[in-house]
Amino acid sequence: MKKDLVNILCCPTCKGDLKLKVEKEENGEIITGSFTCEKCKCTYSIEDGIPDLLPK
Ligand SMILES: [Zn+2]
Repeated sequence: MKKDLVNILCCPTCKGDLKLKVEKEENGEIITGSFTCEKCKCTYSIEDGIPDLLPK
């Protein structure tokens, strides 16, 4: 997924802001990493460039 996408994404559980943690990046795309919601502390993983943003 594109790095810029983090600006339009929000927590699916509480609509709070997500904090991005990048583990692997290629050509401006995030391959592996995770999102953490600063409000409800849920974490969402990014695997093979696809963010798993399902409500927990
Ligand atoms: Zn949240």
